[in-house]
Amino acid sequence: MQAEIIAVGTELANGAKLDTNSQWLSLELAEIGISVRAHATVGDDLDMMVDTIRASANRSDVVLITGGLGPTLDDLTRDALSRFTGAELELHPPSLEHVKEMFARRNRPMPERNVVQAMFPRGSQPLPNPRGTAPGIWLTAPRPDGKTCGIAAMPGVPSEMKQMFRQQVVARLDAGDRIIRRARINCFGCGESQAEEILGDLTARGRDPDVGITAHEATITMRITAEGGSIDEVRAKIEKTRAAIVNRMGEFVFGVEDEELEHALVRLLRLRRASLSTAESGTGGLLAHRLTSAPGFESCYLGGVVVTSNAAKREMIGVEPQVLEQFGPISAEAAAAIAEGCRTRFATDFAIAVTEWPEFDPDDPLAAVPASFVALAGPNLLTVEKVQHFGDPAIAKSRTTKVAMNLLRLHLIQG
Ligand code: AMP
Ligand code: MG
Repeated sequence: MQAEIIAVGTELANGAKLDTNSQWLSLELAEIGISVRAHATVGDDLDMMVDTIRASANRSDVVLITGGLGPTLDDLTRDALSRFTGAELELHPPSLEHVKEMFARRNRPMPERNVVQAMFPRGSQPLPNPRGTAPGIWLTAPRPDGKTCGIAAMPGVPSEMKQMFRQQVVARLDAGDRIIRRARINCFGCGESQAEEILGDLTARGRDPDVGITAHEATITMRITAEGGSIDEVRAKIEKTRAAIVNRMGEFVFGVEDEELEHALVRLLRLRRASLSTAESGTGGLLAHRLTSAPGFESCYLGGVVVTSNAAKREMIGVEPQVLEQFGPISAEAAAAIAEGCRTRFATDFAIAVTEWPEFDPDDPLAAVPASFVALAGPNLLTVEKVQHFGDPAIAKSRTTKVAMNLLRLHLIQG
């Protein structure tokens, strides 16, 4: 089974908007064993659309089209399909009822123009769209080689397209005989090459399932891709490889799929019924921002302050002026004092402090490597970690917040 995807919209072709639908559809098709060999993006131009649809439909088993089903004059997908098949557009009364109903529910009169959304090329099937006005279109077209091509036109709005694909389109496709499934395991605290060393043979080329390693702002992700003849088979393969990775990576592993360190940390804090506060300088509130993005943070993250100046460190957190004078604000001593001060002010079990760091030019090989300090205060606990900033200054903030969260995460899983 070979598929192609056509994304329709001038805003996509000219770069004003990113075509995310094609990526999503390709991943979904791979899971049911259909491989996608081409993506095309065309503007709202009828001739161009007809040409593109014809070229794809003549050589592939499935063509998925997204976009261009709206009611406005630049929405031309249904006209393009009518022109390509040579079948005239005709009214489908139940679809007109649906469009009318959508407007009635929103307490708005239906503009005459929307009638076009209930028009379909003769011989095609309307695909219901419970989330929006525009139904999709399904049709099969003969190919020059005597076979047929299944064509689905879906709305461009990603949420409507996804629902229509899953509820209406998948069942109309003949699944291929190879199924692909993916899984991700997220780690922190080791480098990419160290991870590769630990994983050893698991990352060998040509291994099944395949294990790849990618890094994003110091988070290391292991991507497992398994192929097989049935869902049960690929699931079992993924599970086996996942277990092997988790076993070898140990405490470096903090989550799976889209989970970030803040999710892992908030989950652990809630499990231990422990509370946390933060005082940040160099990260400017990013730590607080991330923690408050994790579901359930309200019950464990009690608050944070941004203390960029010495005055703020003294007034907001009660840091002794001598500490800042003697050691400077970028020091292990300052970090420790800020963490303890924060813990006292917020009356939390734990407090994390992050100092500032000097500005740096990563392209200057002679410059000293700048560093910031991250401190963790807790019951009978005060530790400081030095964070050195090599490389891209743009990720220094992100990486520092991760080091800070990881410090407490490790303490909680070890304690
Ligand atoms: P349309 O169905 O062409 O009227 O598009 C409706 C909305 O969905 C517009 O905001 C489009 O920018 C958006 N959209 C259309 N196609 C895509 C796509 N391939 N990826 C992401 N968004 C899209
Ligand atoms: Mg459009």
